[in-house]
Amino acid sequence: MPRPIQATIHSGALRQNLARMRASAPDAKVWGIVKANAYGHGIERVWEGLRAADGFALLDLQEAERVRALGWRGPVLLLEGVFEPRDLELCSRLGLWHTIHCDEQIEMLAAHKTQQPHRVFLKMNSGMNRLGFAPQRYRAAWTRLEALPQVDEISLMTHFADADTEKGVAQQVRVFEEITRDLPGERTLSNSAASLRFGSDATVRADWIRPGIAVYGSAPDYPRHDIAQWQLQPTMTLDARIIGVQQLAPGDTVGYGSSFTADTPLRIGVVACGYADGYPRHCSTGTPVLVDGVRTRLVGRVSMDMITIDLTPVPHAGIGTPVTLWGRAADGAVLAIDEVAQAGATVGYELMCALAARVPVTVD
Ligand SMILES: *Cc1c(COP(=O)(O)O)cnc(C)c1O
Repeated sequence: MPRPIQATIHSGALRQNLARMRASAPDAKVWGIVKANAYGHGIERVWEGLRAADGFALLDLQEAERVRALGWRGPVLLLEGVFEPRDLELCSRLGLWHTIHCDEQIEMLAAHKTQQPHRVFLKMNSGMNRLGFAPQRYRAAWTRLEALPQVDEISLMTHFADADTEKGVAQQVRVFEEITRDLPGERTLSNSAASLRFGSDATVRADWIRPGIAVYGSAPDYPRHDIAQWQLQPTMTLDARIIGVQQLAPGDTVGYGSSFTADTPLRIGVVACGYADGYPRHCSTGTPVLVDGVRTRLVGRVSMDMITIDLTPVPHAGIGTPVTLWGRAADGAVLAIDEVAQAGATVGYELMCALAARVPVTVD
């Protein structure tokens, strides 16, 4: 028998979350964001659930080839654009749309020989200070691109730094709007958080939204909202089984560093999942976990291949009992990935992206 751990990708949940995000901005087209191998889910595994998207956005050229290999003939957008001149040959060959965020990318395009002019997304740095042209340089970049025979249509793009926080997006929207007001072309502004929180706001409305994390069943502004409040479903479940049981007496400790000490008699389950499977090592005593759908807690330190959990609320549990580390248990009980991430001082994004290659994955 293989080691009892597995991940499941839920096609139905992906489909529902995509529809939920579409409803947040009903007039907009929706990019299915499949960067980082579809946030760790696997591009081929999410394909069935996300094929109703209007296009697919990612940043690795090999991932773009995989999307084309699935038979997708619609829009594919490179969110960071090209990295070197020969990437443009692949854009021409596969009909990829690409972001232009710096002068060097304009130079590469101006030197590129192609029969087929490219659709480009010109990115403004409206305040995040990661990629994009500064507002005062944006129109000059647009004019340069407009004059290139290699360019077909120019779309306008920016990215928000604080869509999930108190600060919000108003300031960045103001900057973007002021500079682009009279420019033609489609616009795309919102990630998941902006789509959920401001999707119906007329100033934030655009032609395309770019929701990633929400489609993958994590609340972008957790703990302010959880997935239930945003009507989102878990799309990845990580399950394992109990492979050992220990009976502790008061004063006994568990695991490396003896970081947990029992103060009462305590039954402990040992679960076949550790940090080498992608479970965060920073999770400590108290992190929630489901045993047969019943909530209990991790105790002691996470080790490479195992964690230890408190079996007090599940006296019937023993070797072979299923344990859900995040996602949905067989009885329907949900443990949101955000709760586990918070206990490990990180975010749902990191946990799903870090699912280890040794974990077998199925799609339902
Ligand atoms: C990753 C990414 C998104 C999606 O962000 P989420 O927070 O996952 O919704 C949108 N736009 C760009 C440019 C991105 O890189």
